[in-house]
Amino acid sequence: MNHQEANINHYARTLQKTIDFVTAHFRNTTQPFSGITPADLKPAVQSIDFNTTSSSIDDLLLEVKSIYSQHAVAFHLPKYIAHLNCPVVTPSLAAEIIISALNSSMDTWDQSAGGTLMEMKLIDWTCEQLHLGASADGVFTSGGTQSNLMALLMARDYYINRTLLYNVKMQGLPEDAKRFRVFCSEKSHFSIKKACSILGLGEHAVVCVPVGNRFKMNTKELKNLMEKEIAQGNIPIAIVATAGTTDFGSIDPLIELGELAKEYGTWFHVDAAYGCGLMLSDNHRYKLSGIEYANSVTVDYHKSFFQPVSSSALLVSDKDTLRLMCYHADYLNPVEQEKDGYPNQVNKTIQTTRRFDALKLWFTLRLMGKDVLGEYIDQIIYTAKQAANMIDKDPDFELLNHPEISTLLFRYNPYSTEVSALNTLNQFIRKKLMDSGKALVASTKVNNEVYLKFTLLNPATTAKDISTILELIKNIGNEYARNN
Ligand SMILES: *Cc1c(COP(=O)(O)O)cnc(C)c1O
Repeated sequence: MNHQEANINHYARTLQKTIDFVTAHFRNTTQPFSGITPADLKPAVQSIDFNTTSSSIDDLLLEVKSIYSQHAVAFHLPKYIAHLNCPVVTPSLAAEIIISALNSSMDTWDQSAGGTLMEMKLIDWTCEQLHLGASADGVFTSGGTQSNLMALLMARDYYINRTLLYNVKMQGLPEDAKRFRVFCSEKSHFSIKKACSILGLGEHAVVCVPVGNRFKMNTKELKNLMEKEIAQGNIPIAIVATAGTTDFGSIDPLIELGELAKEYGTWFHVDAAYGCGLMLSDNHRYKLSGIEYANSVTVDYHKSFFQPVSSSALLVSDKDTLRLMCYHADYLNPVEQEKDGYPNQVNKTIQTTRRFDALKLWFTLRLMGKDVLGEYIDQIIYTAKQAANMIDKDPDFELLNHPEISTLLFRYNPYSTEVSALNTLNQFIRKKLMDSGKALVASTKVNNEVYLKFTLLNPATTAKDISTILELIKNIGNEYARNN
């Protein structure tokens, strides 16, 4: 047997065993978490010696089972309702096998022929779903954090190039950059502040606008704050709307914010990392109305398109704005190649070597279709509504929000205790539930008060699962009351 044939056989055997391993993992995993602690697991991980090798793939899989997979948090089980982790659809997993085996790199055509065109077509499709217009474009990214960073980089340099006639790529930040201001809701994702810090604007450039009704940005307050900053000599360069805040799933008033951005001549970015899934549903896509005014949009397919990590994109309404991120390297994407009509996606992003993540979405749309995903979205929104009603009706719970998408915040409060005791009680409940591994819920603070959080992203989660989880929460809460 020649060398290549031996490699191919090795590949087939190894992969088959690994698929069997994963299949058995799914069969045997019945609750979302084992409850393991870092202290319990660390000695086993530390004891592995990289100077020796595992004798076979079978042995290695056993090792990985003992220190990883048997403790891995199972996002696909209905009682995992903690963070924004969706269960993933099978077509996307099949695509993953091809993505890593063929290992195309999406930076240049000469490393990803074909793949580049497929990625471009999926970007066009997403832009069309959002009505971003005929000049829209975009690129796949590693996640919402990267997309938000790229959006604010464009907002910054768009302002500088247009207004100050100054070459920021060559000269760095101008003096005026100290006065740049980015406006977003106080409930926006922390990556907005992080991006401003990385971009040299400083976190102080971020003006957090209070939320009003249903945790949406209050546009009157926004206007007041913009006027106040302008009066102080500062320069609004961007308004960032969140379509689906991480904690509340609230959607800022996109139409009003888009109009304000136009009035003030600022960049309009919509962070739809979570809310992007609404575009899949005929019943709920109206909630994204106004997104078409955006200069840039963050979408996380790995949050609400049932795709594995990573799968995300940054979209823009005017493809020329992506050029703000374009650099030419002689070895990679020389200017001449652009003239030859060879598409090099590296011109549109801050990454260089980049996975062909788009193939997962391609498989999903071609094998399942958009409408099935849309039904999943309808289902999780429906279950979230049922959950909210159950909590609202139960006098032992306080519901904080009726969900606009699929997250809800509430706390256990059977005795009207004062806030610090309630905080301790609800923190205890979340931790105890995690230690038991029977269900995973999240917690967060609102005005320094602790709330439990359900994030429903699994269409297999039913009202019955929710009522079981609420019972578990009460049992833990009552046990705590008896012991304290
Ligand atoms: C999760 C999230 C992000 C960050 O996305 P990553 O893919 O985790 O980098 C940004 N914005 C919002 C609203 C999010 O929920």
